Amino acid sequence: MLTDRLFARSARSAGSSADSSPSRWHHGPWWSNSYLLTPLLSILVFLVVMSLILWSLNRREQQQQEDTLYRNVAWAQQQIRLSMTGAQEQLQALSRDLVSGRADPHSFQVSTADIMQGHPEILYMNWYTSAQQPRWPNNALPGLGQRLAKPNDQQMDEAVKAAFAEARNTRRQVYSPLMYDDVGNGYITLQTPVYRDRDFLGTIAAVFSIEGILKRDIPPELSAKYKISIIDVNNRELATTSTRPRLPRDAYYDLPLDPPGQGVSVRVYAYPQMTNFTNNTLVWLVAGLSCFVLWSLWSLWKHTRQRFEAQQALYAEAFFRRAMENSVLIGMRVLDMHGRITHVNPAFCRMTGWDESDLVGKNAPFPYWPRDSYPEMQRQLDMTLRGKAPSSGFELRVRRKDGSLFHARLYVSPLIDSSGRQTGWMSSMTDITEPKRAREELAAAHERFTTVLESLDAAVSVLAADEAELLFANRYYRHLFGIRPDGHLELAGGGSFDSSAASSDSIDMVDAFAGLPAAALTESTADAQEVYVQGIQKWFEVRRQYIQWVDGHLAQMQIATDITTRKQAQELARQQDEKLQFTSRLMTMGEMASSLAHELNQPLAAINNYCSGTVALVKSGRTTPDNLLPVLEKTAQQAVRAGMIIKRIREFVKRSEPKRQATRVADIVADAVGLAEIEARKRRIRIVTDMRSRLPVIYVDPVLIEQVLVNLLKNAAEAMHDARPDAVDPVIRVVVRLDSGFVCISVVDQGPGVDEATAERLFEPFYSTKSDGMGMGLNICRSIIESHRGRLWVVNNVESDGHITGATFHCSLPIGEPDGPSNGGSEAPTPQTVTGEL
Ligand code: ADP
Repeated sequence: MLTDRLFARSARSAGSSADSSPSRWHHGPWWSNSYLLTPLLSILVFLVVMSLILWSLNRREQQQQEDTLYRNVAWAQQQIRLSMTGAQEQLQALSRDLVSGRADPHSFQVSTADIMQGHPEILYMNWYTSAQQPRWPNNALPGLGQRLAKPNDQQMDEAVKAAFAEARNTRRQVYSPLMYDDVGNGYITLQTPVYRDRDFLGTIAAVFSIEGILKRDIPPELSAKYKISIIDVNNRELATTSTRPRLPRDAYYDLPLDPPGQGVSVRVYAYPQMTNFTNNTLVWLVAGLSCFVLWSLWSLWKHTRQRFEAQQALYAEAFFRRAMENSVLIGMRVLDMHGRITHVNPAFCRMTGWDESDLVGKNAPFPYWPRDSYPEMQRQLDMTLRGKAPSSGFELRVRRKDGSLFHARLYVSPLIDSSGRQTGWMSSMTDITEPKRAREELAAAHERFTTVLESLDAAVSVLAADEAELLFANRYYRHLFGIRPDGHLELAGGGSFDSSAASSDSIDMVDAFAGLPAAALTESTADAQEVYVQGIQKWFEVRRQYIQWVDGHLAQMQIATDITTRKQAQELARQQDEKLQFTSRLMTMGEMASSLAHELNQPLAAINNYCSGTVALVKSGRTTPDNLLPVLEKTAQQAVRAGMIIKRIREFVKRSEPKRQATRVADIVADAVGLAEIEARKRRIRIVTDMRSRLPVIYVDPVLIEQVLVNLLKNAAEAMHDARPDAVDPVIRVVVRLDSGFVCISVVDQGPGVDEATAERLFEPFYSTKSDGMGMGLNICRSIIESHRGRLWVVNNVESDGHITGATFHCSLPIGEPDGPSNGGSEAPTPQTVTGEL
């Protein structure tokens, strides 16, 4: 209940007021004590007033008691005085009687007996003469001294004597001072002077017992109420009505008994009163009640304190929950069992834009339902109320107050109260617009990615490393190989990765990650490999890489790009190259045709001469076989020479597939020089060959290398002739040497050399400085040499004075079998700058 109120209160005072409230509660517990202060104060006032009343009552009572005591003391005093005065008067009368009447012992005895009867306190009476002698001896007055205890005679004498003297002098009755007997009883003697006119006849002495006075003269009602004592000047108790020892707190009152007493006082003690008991009871009652009230107040305070603390804790808890609810980003909504909204948190309001008042108490359709999806929302609500809401929640669209929509996910759970009873349904709502957008974007990106992958003209496939299972294959792969892993294996080169290879060492190592860092594996990129797949007659450039598949396992990804067309183009280019080379050779031959014809003409003319001579000799009949034989041998030699020339030409220009074979460098050089010489000789240029006798075998196409050398020699001869046609003994040197795994053939001419501009463009196709030049020669030469993994370059021959004496074309070729171990991977030596700069 309290919590409800708290929540209601908190809900009302949301925002800034909600912030200020806790501090009020936390820092202001003054009220909890102040409301206790009032009863405490009233109790104190009550106590004070009660104490005052009791005190004044007590005081009054004491006053009354004192008054009563005083009155009673006065009364007792008066009684004693009266009695004493009575005795005095009787003694006075007796003295007068004695003077006027007969003075015999009998009558005196009768009179004294009368008086003593009336005053039992008088213990002894006698008539003393003026000489202080008893008028009659004791025996003459029997019984007079019997009632006297044992007065100290001497003491008595002194006291009596003093009183006697005073009475005689003053002619008045005089009391003697107090006398004591052995046990401490007090006595007083009254001396009554007896005068006949002027004659002093003595005194009548009467001894009063103090105790007797007390017993005789105090009325019994007084002695019943009070303890009455007679005390002397030394505060000694001479007689008392009660033997009860005096209590220290008993109140008493003294009144002097002068003149008879001579320092004797009457003291009255008040017995403790009944009223005191009532008073005390009242005091105790009040005190007890006050204590009870104080205890009640204390327990009330304690209870309130506990309650206050509990309340504080509750407030703290409530505000904590409130703060939590306010700061939480998830919208929360509570429905009762009938589907009515009973609570929404601020996040829900923020999300939807609807105020709490717009939502709380509303039944379906709720304001945030989009109008076009009422049936769907109603269906979801019905499911919720039936307890059939899916645990994964509902995905729904929510209409904000401004009409905009957003996507949300709503989770529903039953709301159970403290007694374990379900009171409604708690729903939590999260705005999933952003995640949904991200997901959609992701999906779109995935789709784009898939589309790209799918529409790729390359077969992309991923194969599990440990088992030959195809994990992914794009459309092109599926188009070529279906969904079988065979295609992947075939592209992998058959043996390098197949299902059996999965158990081979390499894959085992990869699969088990046995010492192989998978990360490093996945990072390593394999070189592209060209693979021809027989089944579908296609060329592929295959790149493969080990990757970590989504499930963490190692997989091999393979991207096979179809390069069949490229391959075909390459083949075409190669064929065209061949054709070009062939054409180039034909052209070279064409250019050399006249020289060749002239060269052929010589042996043929010689053969003709020899044959004509032989015919003439045979016709003359002067011939003998011995004469004919040398001529015929020479003829045959010339025919062989012509045949050699024709063979060289034929071999040079024959069209054949490029074929590498083990060839001796000397043969190539000799053939090339042999052909080039024919042309050079026409220009009177010598070709000098400089090579070691033992040269290694190289694996080249001899016709092509010969073509290169012929071309270089022809260019050298042309350059030399063009530059210095009148040169004396021009020489072209062909130098062959070995250079770290390469055979370097250099053609050194004595031409003009190559200037810088020409050197840059020398090997470009169709670059020529000659009017009839095609400019294809050096370009073809370089492509031939490079296809043999060699290099072709030019440097100028420079004299020490900087004078250029010609150009040298270097051509280096690797020794050993192509891709063989001797030169595998090695490059042609870098051209050394032996001569000036180019
Ligand atoms: P072409 O001989 O048809 O001109 P090449 O490709 O054989 O075509 O030669 C290209 C050019 O290189 C020549 O035009 C010439 O200028 C230059 N050249 C070739 N060899 C030499 C050389 N030994 N000395 C000077 N220049 C040369």
